[in-house]
Amino acid sequence: MILATRSSCCHLLSVSLMKNVLPQHIEHGVCRPALANSLLRVSEQCTRCQRCVFECAFLKQYGDPKTIADSFDPDNRFFLQLPHECNLCSHCTAVCSHGVDPKALFLEIRRESVVRGVGELPEHNGLRRYEQVGTSQRYSWYGLPEGCDTVFFPGCSLTGSRPETTLKSYELLQSMIPSVGIVLDCCTKPSHDLGDEDYFQAMFGEMTAFLREHGVKQVLTACPNCYEVFKDYGEGLTTRSVYEVLNGRQCPGGVKLVGSVIVHDPCVARFDTTSQQAVRDMLETLGLKVEETEYSREKTLCCGKGGGAGYVAPDKTRIWATKLLGGVHNRPLVSYCASCTKVFAKETPTHHLLDLLFAPEGALAGKARETRTPMTYLNRLKVKKQLRRTLSTAVTRERTFHARELKTKSKLGKQLLIGLLPVALGLLLLSRGIFS
Ligand code: SF4
Ligand code: SF4
Repeated sequence: MILATRSSCCHLLSVSLMKNVLPQHIEHGVCRPALANSLLRVSEQCTRCQRCVFECAFLKQYGDPKTIADSFDPDNRFFLQLPHECNLCSHCTAVCSHGVDPKALFLEIRRESVVRGVGELPEHNGLRRYEQVGTSQRYSWYGLPEGCDTVFFPGCSLTGSRPETTLKSYELLQSMIPSVGIVLDCCTKPSHDLGDEDYFQAMFGEMTAFLREHGVKQVLTACPNCYEVFKDYGEGLTTRSVYEVLNGRQCPGGVKLVGSVIVHDPCVARFDTTSQQAVRDMLETLGLKVEETEYSREKTLCCGKGGGAGYVAPDKTRIWATKLLGGVHNRPLVSYCASCTKVFAKETPTHHLLDLLFAPEGALAGKARETRTPMTYLNRLKVKKQLRRTLSTAVTRERTFHARELKTKSKLGKQLLIGLLPVALGLLLLSRGIFS
């Protein structure tokens, strides 16, 4: 869709640069104030030094941030949809020595595209459905024990890929905070990143209002994406990563691991120095030596999944992971994001930090296999079932609130999808003889 109009837009880019003036939409408020301000900031601050362009395939193709800002035309679908090829990974923001925040601009353009009715790309239908399953009545579950003021929020990805690790993490947290509750739900970051601001605010706002109304003050996240969402939007709630809370814990039986690992900091944790350090301290406590690379901490690279860009421009987004793996040199990789772990595990030995904590020998022996769809959905239902059966609670809920129906599916279609998924999974497992 974007490629179809690229040649005409390259022309627009060059025309705008020749004029070398601020476009009218910046000066006369044609677009939303948040976007106009972002365009203006980038246009004024960016010196076109090309430092950020060097690593990013998206900028390499479409030009440095000032070029994109000065050429932006809010009435042109090409410019509105362009940022869906950007991973929103903030690498450009991290390397810029002039204080420019191109990622913020690209997110604002995504939001503008949704407001103008051209932001919903068919490539994102699967991602939107994934999110909607996570927030559905069948998959969500809140369990708050008596006196609960802290909840564990494991996130869709960890629960689906590592049900045992999710439950063990919760058990360990219970031993430290006896009244800790658990929330199985989606933080709706996909909608946030796709620019669907109203839907995100409605869904996330309803969730956090429920938590606050029931006395929750602190949220412990296992997924760096959930962490960022709660940190930025969880008004009235304190957010901490479980890595910060579990820091100092030993493997079962005090087993010590031996060797060196490289940590992959998820791009969403690029500026989260607290979690970055906690993860390294945890690994050292487990006995492992952490080696840093040119892509550690703030300079980390995206796994390619960020911002849903992999669905729109897979060839561009794959380049990030290829670059990162180029510096690994066969050393084991450790991540603290289940989605990143899955991406890198296809290419090189990669461990999730929580697997190393709870099942270290199996993880190092390569037995912690990545779970595939549709098993990830079944795992989430298994975790919910187990918790409902065993947890003593004062308050529970399954989520029935929805800000609006998914536009890409009829109501009936959505209900069939969510309702029949477990049946389909059961039939699949039976056909494979797993229950025999
Ligand atoms: S690094 Fe900063 S100043 Fe240089 S091109 Fe990128 S945004 Fe502009
Ligand atoms: S992909 Fe990352 S580095 Fe490239 S423009 Fe987007 S946020 Fe910046």
